[in-house]
Amino acid sequence: MADSIEEKSRTLAKGKGRFCCAGGCTNTNADGVSLHSFPSEKRPDIRRKWIKFIRDEQINFVSPTKYQFICERHFTKECYPKKYSILEALGKHDEIKRKDLNPDAVPTIHLKPKRYLHTAREKNLPLSLGGDGRCDTPGHSAKFCSYTMLDVNLMVVADIQLVQSNEVKSSSHMEKEGLIRAVKEFQENGLAIGELVTDRHPQITKFVREEMPNTKHYFDVWHVAKGSKAFVELEKIAANTRIKKDIRKLSPGPQTAALEGYHSILNHFAPKMIGFSYEGMLSRLLLAALHFNENMQRPQACTREGAKRFSIIFPKAKGGHYSLKEVKEPSYVETLKDEMTRLAINGEGKRKDIQMPMAPPPLSASYFHPVKEDAINNFQSRFKLLP
Ligand SMILES: [Zn+2]
Repeated sequence: MADSIEEKSRTLAKGKGRFCCAGGCTNTNADGVSLHSFPSEKRPDIRRKWIKFIRDEQINFVSPTKYQFICERHFTKECYPKKYSILEALGKHDEIKRKDLNPDAVPTIHLKPKRYLHTAREKNLPLSLGGDGRCDTPGHSAKFCSYTMLDVNLMVVADIQLVQSNEVKSSSHMEKEGLIRAVKEFQENGLAIGELVTDRHPQITKFVREEMPNTKHYFDVWHVAKGSKAFVELEKIAANTRIKKDIRKLSPGPQTAALEGYHSILNHFAPKMIGFSYEGMLSRLLLAALHFNENMQRPQACTREGAKRFSIIFPKAKGGHYSLKEVKEPSYVETLKDEMTRLAINGEGKRKDIQMPMAPPPLSASYFHPVKEDAINNFQSRFKLLP
């Protein structure tokens, strides 16, 4: 079988040979792309730029080993002599054996932000997602609602949408709007949603039923059980007809409990009692998601002898009995602190220009804005009436 041979040679090449060391990329010669070697020490300026490109994502990277290269996917067309685009335009791909770069070319294209997409597309299966909304204030006058989609197989926060209340009819429509935007995002990236687990939000149930015919909709057990002192009171639950209907829709496998976990992390990054601007809120959502994804993928730590490490904890719910908890490898936080210190000492800590999506106008934009002088006069004349 041609496929399995190709697969095998690729694995071999990846284990031993040259490979692309850019974040999220594992290309080798066997992948049919050109690999470019780092500029030599004789050209320190260009070499430094190449190393910085890798360091943008892997802050511990110092200099390349003899196996580490950067593949052509990280260079723009302008980095190559024109003859290649001409040959490609003529369909003469075969005549390009190996691409050579222009002498001052620098890699600029990072693949990492798309890493989830790559994995999801490679699997080529409809996704199983858990979705949940979180409003910034308890009650009805929320300014923001963020909608989070968690890929329950990969345990990755796959998408986040932020809705501001003046973008929709009323703040009670924010959660559904968040879901609609998230679903659109998946569709536009060519990803099908096979299963969606959410809480029992009536607007969302209706939307999935009517607009997402190819998606199986399940209710999260966690949410259905919530407020009912869990399954001990199952009898009571079963007596309720609405819930009886919902039980048929209970998620059979993946639960969205991890989403609850994400939301409690979010409470640290964006406490509900503090008001944030749209950009501020969005940045905090993204940071919380990065943190969550990084932690979920953190491997369990091992002892020097190679045994998995555990710690013993005494959870409240277990009333004096213990549980075992996996000890994870150290997180990125220490590395991040070191890097911040290094940047501050070297005076490199300049903010890069970050591209933010267009923020909706602030809530006060639609209110009546008086001339300040009039407002002050009005205020003062009211006080004069007082004895
Ligand atoms: Zn690459």
